[in-house]
Amino acid sequence: MMKGVDLMAVIALAGNPNCGKTTLFNALTGTRQHVGNWPGVTVEKKEGILKFDGEEHVIVDLPGTYSLGAYSEDEMVARNFIVEEKPDVVINVVDATNLERNLYLTTQLIEMGVNVVLALNMIDEVKEKNIIIDTKELSNKLGIIVIPTSAAKKQGIDDLIEKAIESLNNDKPTTSISYGSDIDNQIEHLASLLDGSFKKTSYPPHWIALKLLEGDEYIYKLVSEKCSPEIVKEVDRVISKGDFGILIVDKRYEFIGDIISKSVIKPDLELDSTSDKIDKILTHKWFGLPIFAIIMFVIYQLTFYIGEDVLGELVGTGLELLGENINAILVKANAPELLTAFISDGLIGGVGAVVEFVPLIMVMYIFIGILEDSGYMARAAYVMDNIMRALGLHGKTFISMLIGTGCNVPGVMATRTLDNKKDRMIAMLINPFISCGARLPIYLLFISAFFPEHGGIILFSLYIIGFLVAILMGKLFSKTLFKGESSDFIMELPPYRIPTLEGVLLNMWDKVSSFLKRAGTTILAIVTGLWILSVLPLGVEPYSQASLLGRIGALFAPIFKPAGFGTWKASVSLIAGVAAKEAVVATLGMVYVGAAEGANLVTAIQQAFTPLSALSFMIMTLLYTPCAGVIATIKKETNSTKWALFTALYTLAIGWLGAVLVFQIGSLLGFS
Ligand code: GDP
Ligand code: MG
Repeated sequence: MMKGVDLMAVIALAGNPNCGKTTLFNALTGTRQHVGNWPGVTVEKKEGILKFDGEEHVIVDLPGTYSLGAYSEDEMVARNFIVEEKPDVVINVVDATNLERNLYLTTQLIEMGVNVVLALNMIDEVKEKNIIIDTKELSNKLGIIVIPTSAAKKQGIDDLIEKAIESLNNDKPTTSISYGSDIDNQIEHLASLLDGSFKKTSYPPHWIALKLLEGDEYIYKLVSEKCSPEIVKEVDRVISKGDFGILIVDKRYEFIGDIISKSVIKPDLELDSTSDKIDKILTHKWFGLPIFAIIMFVIYQLTFYIGEDVLGELVGTGLELLGENINAILVKANAPELLTAFISDGLIGGVGAVVEFVPLIMVMYIFIGILEDSGYMARAAYVMDNIMRALGLHGKTFISMLIGTGCNVPGVMATRTLDNKKDRMIAMLINPFISCGARLPIYLLFISAFFPEHGGIILFSLYIIGFLVAILMGKLFSKTLFKGESSDFIMELPPYRIPTLEGVLLNMWDKVSSFLKRAGTTILAIVTGLWILSVLPLGVEPYSQASLLGRIGALFAPIFKPAGFGTWKASVSLIAGVAAKEAVVATLGMVYVGAAEGANLVTAIQQAFTPLSALSFMIMTLLYTPCAGVIATIKKETNSTKWALFTALYTLAIGWLGAVLVFQIGSLLGFS
């Protein structure tokens, strides 16, 4: 933890998915975490600093969870943080339009004996829907402070923080839920039994007792490690007396229902709202999928049109001018030839080729951001859920895929919300086939070179192919490596919201800035390394096959011959792509443009490839080994080098096979 002299309190934000925690976190800390109107966006806890009243506090955004059981990794992250790191205050963010469900977590937080302050968020929507909430009554019944807020409209936030910090001096909530005398007695009995063993830990004995009765395996394991065999035996005896878990959950809902009935008034008739009407169409059994496909297709078309034809041209011309000017200056200044070559070929030719695609990426993520924020993406996930399930895959797999379209690293991490090991492994192993943002420049380059008229449809097809390969492999894995039942999942549909300009732009900037950052660091480093290899041994013709780089590429080139791009240049770019996918374009830019002084990359690609080999090359880059960052994440998340290596290799095989198939079948059909 970042506890230090100047940091006063540690404040954790806990709440259900999609209740506005991250929006609140951003408002409090001024950071720009990804906000999305669908569940499962935050899977890791994030920390930031809040400056308030001249003091600094640590704010921790926990993953959204419906409960604090031990069912999935994100629940465990949230729970362990609260129990073990002991934040000074937990701000429980709730969606006030949906209190019944949200308060379930609240009851669990109260039972953990932590200092809870309730943020009654989305209060703007409560008013819009004519719901009346008696905050005072709610506060009395729950025994905690309740503050109405709107994170999105930045209302009530100061009040919330003020009360949260004040609460540091208050006594902790003492409200307890009665589970009926039988269970209450068992809890008392177990708690006094465990008191000694847990005295020196951060686990409250009452909570441990409750969890044991609920059948929490993690806590049971903890108890069996910490307590003497006699105590464990007694625990076993008590918990085997009945199925307390269901009774406890029932009682909690009863407790919540009672509170709601006394503090919330909903308008009598909830008419079939517009939202429901829209959903009837967008999530329709037959129309849902085609509608999603059409929306995505239109987005790719528009992306191409606006990003490439309008904005891309500008940036491209700008870069060209910059290159010419810098070159002229360097020549004039009599700079060493190698330096001039490095700057014009490595930096401008290589890194510049990647940066050139920034406008396109901006446009695409603005559209995707609008879909996310409006709530549509959750509908798409809902529609896909049925299809995934029919294929034996877990519905949440699709959410990790959607996140993977930005970058596969968070895509792989998003699988943490899958509570079943088998489902999670499959989702992780197939995520690399989902085309990420870093692969976009490759497609864009080859589309500009060969298919400028059909950009949208080709881009769209590539994403679809990646998705199809992913689900096919998923199906295969579920039949072979990971057999067993998928667990159920109920996709929840958030209400539609008008996307906020701020939210959409922040989301876009999040992606674009990390893209630019990578261009300036990782890609620059890779290009520099490759550039050195391309002018060594000294005296060799730079960027020729005689250079070290050329020799390395030539070694691998025969492997790619059946796929139609068996050149050392293509091979080298693919190898570089394993470090980072943008490096494919950066490398091509360097070796092609550098070799033919001042040539334009698109023209060089037109000469070096054919339409068919361009297609097979795009398929290769879509499917082959994901970048090192993804492999490392898979290693970390599975805790196994074996699975990381497996992913690297099997995707390589699939990529190669895909490219060869495209090229060979295309050739047979008479294409070239
Ligand atoms: P998280 O999953 O809890 O982190 O939720 P997010 O912060 O990602 O927010 C989910 C959605 O709710 C986003 O579309 C937000 O713009 C929206 N949102 C968050 N807070 C409010 C609020 O107070 N009022 C309204 N109307 N929308 C909100
Ligand atoms: Mg979040």
